[in-house]
Amino acid sequence: ATERAAVLDAIERIATRIERERSALTELDSAIGDADHGGNMARGWRAAADAVADLDDPDPATMVKTAGKTLLSEVGGASGPLYGGSLVFASTALDDGITAETAVAFAETYLEKVQDRGDASVGDKTMVDALVPAVHTFKKSIEVDDLPPAEALAKAVDAAERGVEFTVPIRAAKGRASYLGWRSVGHQDPGATSTLFIMEELLAAAQ
Ligand code: ADP
Ligand code: MG
Ligand code: MG
Repeated sequence: ATERAAVLDAIERIATRIERERSALTELDSAIGDADHGGNMARGWRAAADAVADLDDPDPATMVKTAGKTLLSEVGGASGPLYGGSLVFASTALDDGITAETAVAFAETYLEKVQDRGDASVGDKTMVDALVPAVHTFKKSIEVDDLPPAEALAKAVDAAERGVEFTVPIRAAKGRASYLGWRSVGHQDPGATSTLFIMEELLAAAQ
């Protein structure tokens, strides 16, 4: 029951934050994309939080799966399948509940699916630039440094932040921004930015 409350709190925090950042995300996407990332994400996460709140006595894996399915059906474009499909796929890592170990498995599976689906690597100026350092830092902080999950997550958020900053000076090689070629240089990637906001809210919920 407390796990359920924690997951619900986390998803609600994410939806609220993304709604608050809607125009900031749209502004980023208007520079190197089609100006819909804020609207896509805000609509999707609000619907996801509402769908999860409506579930009757769910376990954490079902809640995450429901959020992912809702994102898949509400959000089109590149980010809908990347966020939604990867959440659905990774949710099974939480079948036995949320522990440091299952959280690492969830993060790794999520990243794996984003890369399977989008075929982007670090340096392509996408959400992968935030996710790869974040997931690797989270895993190392838990498995090697033996940090408590909330502290590991704080380190992961720092890594994601540096990843977002790294998207500014590089040239996009995947997604819509890649159509701009060198003109994408100097702009921060919207999807890496929304990934950071989501991680910041997961950290707030974990503290
Ligand atoms: P669209 O580009 O279809 O309008 P959004 O604006 O919602 O979709 O999302 C754009 C974001 O999606 C980009 O900022 C980038 O982070 C991410 N993205 C696009 N293509 C890929 C990809 N192949 N792999 C990973 N992330 C991607
Ligand atoms: Mg867009
Ligand atoms: Mg679009």
